[in-house]
Amino acid sequence: MNNAAHIEIAYITAAVLFCFGIKMLSSPKTARKGNLVSAFGMLLAVGATLLYKGLDLRWIGVGMALGGIGGVLAARLVQMTAMPQMVAVFNGFGGAASLLVAWSEYHIRHPERMGLMPIAVAATVIIGAVTFTGSMIAYAKLAERIPSRPILFPHQHPINAALGITAVGCTAVFLMSPASHYALFLFVMLTALVLGVLLVIPIGGADMPVVICLLNSYSGLAAAAAGFVILNNVLIVSGALVGASGIILTRIMCKAMNRSLANVLFGGFGALRQGKKGYHGEARSLSVEDAYYLLEAARSVVFVPGYGMAAAQAQHVVRELGELLESNGAEVKYCIHPVAGRMPGHMNVLLAEANVPYEKLVEPPDVNPIMDTVDVAVVIGANDVVNPAARDEPSSPLYGMPIIEVDRARTCVVIKRSLNPGFAGVDNPLFFKPNTRMLFGDAKQVVSSLVAEFKEAT
Ligand code: NDP
Repeated sequence: MNNAAHIEIAYITAAVLFCFGIKMLSSPKTARKGNLVSAFGMLLAVGATLLYKGLDLRWIGVGMALGGIGGVLAARLVQMTAMPQMVAVFNGFGGAASLLVAWSEYHIRHPERMGLMPIAVAATVIIGAVTFTGSMIAYAKLAERIPSRPILFPHQHPINAALGITAVGCTAVFLMSPASHYALFLFVMLTALVLGVLLVIPIGGADMPVVICLLNSYSGLAAAAAGFVILNNVLIVSGALVGASGIILTRIMCKAMNRSLANVLFGGFGALRQGKKGYHGEARSLSVEDAYYLLEAARSVVFVPGYGMAAAQAQHVVRELGELLESNGAEVKYCIHPVAGRMPGHMNVLLAEANVPYEKLVEPPDVNPIMDTVDVAVVIGANDVVNPAARDEPSSPLYGMPIIEVDRARTCVVIKRSLNPGFAGVDNPLFFKPNTRMLFGDAKQVVSSLVAEFKEAT
């Protein structure tokens, strides 16, 4: 068997490991192992690629060293709360890498001898460029370097459509004679870079989860297209897997936010999600001591974590409080909304890190039907995902988004620092409901104080 055959066998093995790894990621119990299996597959693929003859290993070494240092620094220094921004940046770099591969390949091989390859080159450049600039805008919005609200300008949709049509038209002309149309090639790239910016700036922060998933899918598609450019099977397979899983996640997030995929794909979404309604009335607060008595008497408690739990890093004390409640005889569940926090699976990751047993994690459809039987729903730094306006007020920007209906619990305790709105910037009538009690303060401090109350009492 020759060298090329060995490489292809390693690639097939890597592709199989990716598939098993992804399958294992679908359950929290096997997710860690799944990550390792996929990482091993990637190691195999990279190792096999290095066996190709004629590679300049010095440049590859420099690239790997720089990328490795960047990766280690990011893993060590980036705060858990800044993960979504990091995911956005990584998606963008994936798109940029595919774009650069296709661009260099256009120069290395003579375009007239590339057969059908210019089609793959053009696809990679367009998708890669849109992914790169779109992701950078998503990063800037999530990191609040630019306003996260929708940024609108007149005739936005016709301009976007015109740019898209221009890019497709110029690509068609480029494909007729790729060698003589380098300037057009660069123009298509530039148009796609601008399009990436224009497609994401009109999207409001509240719709960012869908955008992140979609850009993730695009980065996979760009990689798969780059795989066709350099005829690398494992790149085609892994890119297709990322593209497909990204689009599945996009659909899940769309459903969780009550947005249609068509609405997402045709852009401009989130533009109408502005404005807020001032709620007046009395928000009743309670002290830590009162909250302790309430919880001490409760037989069923549902924790609803949100972004504030991540910001306060309160997951460990929340798990401790859950254990104390259980030893006091209460049934405890953790209800996780799919878009709680700032990235898909954000709350699952934090609670897993704090060793909350997987079987205690439930989803809104498991808890909402029995919410009237729950003694106390404890909202920990969540806001948008428990906003009843999404269910009750057709004029609300959040209307239609499925929520965790904590307002139907016998008592709802909301732990947060103020009455300020959450990510979507929409006021929350939950705070003024007769069965709601506000427990003001930093989530970690407040929950730690509750833990201390329980410990003192035993
Ligand atoms: P929200 O952003 O709606 O609310 C979080 C609340 O946490 C705030 O109102 C804030 O109130 C409170 N908070 C912040 N810091 C602390 C702290 N240290 N202690 C206690 N409370 C704190 O979060 P949700 O999780 O309810 O909703 C997620 C939102 O983010 C949705 O709008 C979703 O669309 C969006 N999003 C989700 C993504 C995802 O993939 N999951 C990605 C991007 C956006 P206060 O200041 O009063 O303390």
